Amino acid sequence: MSKLVNKMENESKLHEVLRRASLFLEKNNREPKVAELLLQHFLGVSRSELFMKMRDPVSEAVLMPFQQAIECHAETGVPVEHITGYASFFGRDFHVNGHTLIPRPETEELIQHIIRTVPNEPITIADIGTGTGIIAVTLALAFPEAEVYATDISEEALDVARQNAEQLGVTVNFLQGDYLKPLVDRAIQADMIVSNPPYIASEEKMSLSDTVKNFDPEHALFAEEQGLGAYKDMIAELPNVMKQDGYVFFEIGHEQGKTVKSMLENAFPESDAAITQDMNGKDRIVSGILGSPGHEL
Ligand code: GLN
Repeated sequence: MSKLVNKMENESKLHEVLRRASLFLEKNNREPKVAELLLQHFLGVSRSELFMKMRDPVSEAVLMPFQQAIECHAETGVPVEHITGYASFFGRDFHVNGHTLIPRPETEELIQHIIRTVPNEPITIADIGTGTGIIAVTLALAFPEAEVYATDISEEALDVARQNAEQLGVTVNFLQGDYLKPLVDRAIQADMIVSNPPYIASEEKMSLSDTVKNFDPEHALFAEEQGLGAYKDMIAELPNVMKQDGYVFFEIGHEQGKTVKSMLENAFPESDAAITQDMNGKDRIVSGILGSPGHEL
């Protein structure tokens, strides 16, 4: 791969540095906008501050790590979030690292959907497979009276999630374990269970971009049984952890809507389940009120 450094040696104005880096990324089939995000990071400025500084010279101290990061991203696909150490979710910054899935915009839609559809503040919420803690923390902020639990199989992920909860000033009870098991073990009953579990079939690994398959943790991406394993596990345990008329919200793969909905309906014949599409018109959420027919979600 050609180097960016040589081309930028004599450049010093920010707009020029940015333009060259964006073109370099584009030529290497990467998202050009990454240049803006990384420059913002190394300068320690907001997006609007970046635009105010366009005519300013860029110091060596910023230029060197910036160029290195651009080249590394172009070459390996390392996600911007792993370089900067944080990701934005629902308007807030969350720490991320190689032990946690990077938040996706679809999950912001899941939060929006929950806030829109739940009529009253839930009393007990549980986020299953919390990763960075985005769902648990964002819901704790949206429903300040609720008691929030979050589980994850990975202690390393829970460390990241704990840090995020603390930084954003909420109390979340983090529990280590497989899906719903930590709740079952403690006889915790929730009136809302939310999860964005791993849902990709391992056979699909080759079709994922290097940014995803080489950097997001495998156990956050892939599940057994054509990607349905996590839903199967959770649905089997739901009767032990749900209060009457409790809500379930699952983020799903876009081809899993019908199957997950019928899995839920088979386990809870009285449930009222629905599929919701994301901004791209793809099935993305399966939700249900369990044991309470007649409600529309
Ligand atoms: N719940 C976390 C998120 O939505 C992690 C999801 C996962 O690792 N599959 O980002």
